[in-house]
Amino acid sequence: PHADPQTGAAVKAADRAHVFHSWSAQGLIDPLAVAGAEGAYFWDYDGNRYLDFTSGLVYTNIGYQHPKVVAAIQEQAGRLATFAPAFAVQARSEAARLIAERTPGDLDRIFFTNGGAEAVEHAIRMARLHTGRPKVMSAYRSYHGGTATAINITGDPRRWASDSGTAGVVHFWGPFPYRSAFYAADEDQECARALAHLEETIAFEGPGTVAAIILETIPGTAGIMVPPPGYLAGVREICDRHGIVLVLDEVMAGFGRTGRWFAAEHFGVVPDLMTFAKGVNSGYVPLGGVAVSDRIAATFERRPYPGGLTYSGHPLACAAAVATIEAMEEEKVVENAAALGETVVGPALRALAERHPSVGEVRGTGMFWALDLVRDRATREPLVPYNASGEANAPMAAFAAACKRGGLWPFVNMNRTHVVPPCNITEAELKEGFAALDAALSVADEHTV
Ligand code: PLP
Repeated sequence: PHADPQTGAAVKAADRAHVFHSWSAQGLIDPLAVAGAEGAYFWDYDGNRYLDFTSGLVYTNIGYQHPKVVAAIQEQAGRLATFAPAFAVQARSEAARLIAERTPGDLDRIFFTNGGAEAVEHAIRMARLHTGRPKVMSAYRSYHGGTATAINITGDPRRWASDSGTAGVVHFWGPFPYRSAFYAADEDQECARALAHLEETIAFEGPGTVAAIILETIPGTAGIMVPPPGYLAGVREICDRHGIVLVLDEVMAGFGRTGRWFAAEHFGVVPDLMTFAKGVNSGYVPLGGVAVSDRIAATFERRPYPGGLTYSGHPLACAAAVATIEAMEEEKVVENAAALGETVVGPALRALAERHPSVGEVRGTGMFWALDLVRDRATREPLVPYNASGEANAPMAAFAAACKRGGLWPFVNMNRTHVVPPCNITEAELKEGFAALDAALSVADEHTV
């Protein structure tokens, strides 16, 4: 709808001439020119429409162009488009209140940032100042953002090019039963061994040197590995025993994605600091933040917090957050993610796994699911090697191309595809997506042994 191919060609040409894209070899990319989007769909200038199983970069939890959020941004723009962070502004106050009312435990003060990476940077700065200790521990198979500290605590290959700044960062293995680093036979053993490994790593680093342990509550980009029961409670206990700050990164898992407002609720664990972004306002205007517990807030009650941002709590972004949270409540978006996740997505993906030998494991909850694709189910050898590119990645590229031919835009990372559509997607839309996935998995099957 309302798309002129000539305009599309001009949009593409200016992009190729002048836009420098993230994470890419500039000469090797071919970005799609997008003409518009609504709900769970977007379309190009040539009449192709796609069902978005990625929610952008896993952030449009209420879909594209939600009328209440668009109206709230327009209304705020007309009233007070911007104001500096040192003042009390209605949209900012209200957003902070609505977020604090939903975060677990005593995470009642909100430090606003422009996105997830900045939230992580500030959480770590707070933890270091609060404890007076230098080190941060984080997991392999994690993503925490693209800025200096955030990329160094990240546990995936995007870190390697920035590794000169790793001083003070120690990586450890989290639990992942399907690809256990601990040769564990089952979830209980995986949990026990992962906790013992963390405890031992801390002992050898020196507990008095560790300011924080940061974990994605449910790791996202790295593969949606729901931690076994008891793991996060065990980490909480280790942190308490050693005076280490526990930071849960809910940038991707928060705001309804897992069928709860925050994934920490599934595990009954309250961190000392929690980072968020993305779903807080579905990314309609950039916004992130750190939810701060009473203990950490007390450190900065008389001593200034040495950090800030020109756009901290930007009124347009905060008005979008208020409208998003209210719309999610009114339309029961979190409940929708929980219900359809268990009754529709899980069963449908497991049925696909039965028919397609390329599916090694299905895992997830809410609107947060991964298919781990394999060459060989018996050995669990991934469909493509870790961090593959070019020819080595051809099977995953063929799978993604087949999804797109079927009108489905897939989330693809290494040997996995993630099913992470908007949290307010309908059952009928999901079924349309699964039909396209079914056909594309037949293409992946051709690459199994
Ligand atoms: N933390 C997690 C868990 C994320 O998934 C991401 C982004 O994907 C980030 C942090 C970084 O957020 P941003 O890209 O908004 O800086």
